[in-house]
Amino acid sequence: MSARELRGGPAADALLADARTRLSDLSATPHLHVIRLGEDPASVSYVRLKDKKAREIGLHSTVHALGEETSEEALLELIGTLNHDEHAHGILVQLPLPRHVSTEPVIAAIDPFKDVDGFHPSNVGSLWSGLPGLPPCTPAGVMAMLAHYGISAAGRRAVIVGRSNIVGKPLAALLLRADATVTIAHSRTPDLAQVTRQADLLFAAVGRAGLITPEMVQEGAVVVDVGINRVRGPERDRLVGDVHPDVATVASAMTPVPGGVGPLTVAQLLANTVRAAELQHYQRHAALRQATP
Ligand code: NAD
Repeated sequence: MSARELRGGPAADALLADARTRLSDLSATPHLHVIRLGEDPASVSYVRLKDKKAREIGLHSTVHALGEETSEEALLELIGTLNHDEHAHGILVQLPLPRHVSTEPVIAAIDPFKDVDGFHPSNVGSLWSGLPGLPPCTPAGVMAMLAHYGISAAGRRAVIVGRSNIVGKPLAALLLRADATVTIAHSRTPDLAQVTRQADLLFAAVGRAGLITPEMVQEGAVVVDVGINRVRGPERDRLVGDVHPDVATVASAMTPVPGGVGPLTVAQLLANTVRAAELQHYQRHAALRQATP
């Protein structure tokens, strides 16, 4: 068997086309604010991509490029200002932050209605309770990709390798909502292969090149590779996933790396920014209705 390739580009385009059509129903163009501290090369390039893509679909975008030495207080003050600015619809603080700034209080300071990364504890709670909110971009992007390719999770066994707050755990919440039977495996899971072989849908979000090999995959499984690993090539570094390329001989469908889940993450961020503007619009209208005697 040679797996059908699930490319992220077309799925991301569909997500963006939908976000673009919703723009016309809004009274103001959504404005995304991305805050970056320092000059970490990966963060610089991710932020540049987010800014470029936001502008491409017709959003306003501002990048706040602050110095590495910016204090936590100064960062919290900027977040507070953006929280109160009704023209700032989405706020994203690029992670990781420098060591002297604690991530949790910074995330918790963002207005949950503007938290386009979906990391605020209130959005995490909404995700697990099935309430409306803003979902984390990578897992929500993965679900959008499955939907785009007509792959249903309902009634199927899903195994996620990786239990991080940004991928593994929220992906489990979304798959549960989609009526899958979900298992999360991690670095302390004994006999990982025995667990992954049960999967009709297998998700790898670990950060180890080629961890998932063909013997670990059930014949005909759908395999989604979230991992991004930089490996040394003879001439230059290249990006590979957590799933060994030979898995394509066993799986029925599989995402490539690069060009798989990656484009969905940015597309979902922009969809979340439009969603955030919609939520704020309804919130203001509800407040106005309550204030009207
Ligand atoms: P993380 O380091 O926070 O979590 C990794 C998880 O893998 C942990 O839960 C750990 O328990 C588990 N793990 C580690 N070694 C293992 C092993 N040998 N067997 C089983 N489980 C093991 O990482 P993360 O932030 O969740 O990211 C995971 C990968 O996904 C990374 O490669 C990252 O670059 C990539 N990623 C990609 C996107 C995207 O847009 N495509 C977005 C976020 C993360």
